Amino acid sequence: MNTAPETVSQNTGSSLFDIASIRSDFPILDQEVHGHALVYLDNAATAQKPQPVIDAIEKYYRRDNANIHRGVHQLSERATRDYEESRKKVQQFLNAADSKEIIFLRGATEAINLIAQSYGRSQLQSGDEIIITEMEHHSNIVPWQLLCEQIGTVLRVVPFNGRGELSMEEFHRLLNPKTKLVSVVHVSNSLGTINPVEEIIEAAHSQGVPVVLDGAQALPHIAVDVQKLDCDFYVFSGHKLFAPTGIGALYGKRELLEKMPPYQGGGDMIRTVTFNKTEYSALPYKFEAGTPNIAGGIGLGAALDYLRTIGMDAISNYEHELLVYATQTVATVPGLQLIGTAENKASIVSFVLDGIHAHDIGTILDHQGVAIRAGHHCTMPVMQHYGVAATARASLAFYNNRDDVDRLVAAIHKAKELFGR
Ligand code: PMP
Repeated sequence: MNTAPETVSQNTGSSLFDIASIRSDFPILDQEVHGHALVYLDNAATAQKPQPVIDAIEKYYRRDNANIHRGVHQLSERATRDYEESRKKVQQFLNAADSKEIIFLRGATEAINLIAQSYGRSQLQSGDEIIITEMEHHSNIVPWQLLCEQIGTVLRVVPFNGRGELSMEEFHRLLNPKTKLVSVVHVSNSLGTINPVEEIIEAAHSQGVPVVLDGAQALPHIAVDVQKLDCDFYVFSGHKLFAPTGIGALYGKRELLEKMPPYQGGGDMIRTVTFNKTEYSALPYKFEAGTPNIAGGIGLGAALDYLRTIGMDAISNYEHELLVYATQTVATVPGLQLIGTAENKASIVSFVLDGIHAHDIGTILDHQGVAIRAGHHCTMPVMQHYGVAATARASLAFYNNRDDVDRLVAAIHKAKELFGR
């Protein structure tokens, strides 16, 4: 079992990383599953929520529930203030220049669909090329395929090598005068690879091509500064960032968002409506038709406050050490093959085991109280690359510890024993 101290008092910049106290902020971790203490290692699918997020949602529904922006009464004013405060917190978290550049949406999927349908349909033409990569989540493939069917754009795909690292040579070769957009995952959800997005952005910009980054798996693990990166769009989902489901955001550079038409029509996104002509609201409301996920937005603000108190650099440092430990420990299991061994990685330990299907591993681990994910992780082309139907994936968050990793490895050994391997 674990010999590491529960409290890791490493000096990670401004704060001490107190793992015991952090774990106590997540009430869901304190439970048994099938008679074992829960080990939650499915954070890439969705992360758990700390008490301040749960409290913020409860407070909203207990005290402040009202529709926002239009109300003239106290409850609506409070709800509007808290919701709009959250927008500023997202702006600060990403270091965007202006809170008007933050569009609240359901999550990364909706954000990429918005870019494809609004930016893509208005700015791209038949024959224009869009570059993505072989390691994209389906949500950064299918919206572009839909656009290609609709307007005749062409998708180009950057391959990756056996370790799960993008072929930058191939990226530079694919980038050509027909390229009109690049859309790349910042951190891969099935491989853990942290992509060289700085190099991608610089090369694309040198040809005047805007870049979309899918940050769904990056923001929970690394500090992101959209101005420093100089990306044109950045998308993420709140539920992977310790906030509720059904809320996320799109960051877009103002000059791009200004020239894009609305994605959906309805209440809240208009200035005036007549049957002859409708004028749209200014940013960000032009893209926020209908009553939004108010509680979710407020919960997202609370999650970002919580992360700020710990510090993203402290989180990254702690998780990096844990990932190294997990990778080394898991790799000692005979017959286990790691999928995704990039030099620059975050959070993910994906693997296959000789003679045992990933779903069976997942089920046996669950009976040991260890929650992981088994499947294609919405990245079927990644599975095709490795010639496997599925992988077992353990994904770490900053509330995980070495004990969790040891429990994972013990459960994998148990699975092998049950299968006589
Ligand atoms: N991109 C990546 C890299 C992801 O991991 C996910 C979720 N697994 C998404 C996009 C889509 O996120 P959501 O389902 O929250 O919209």
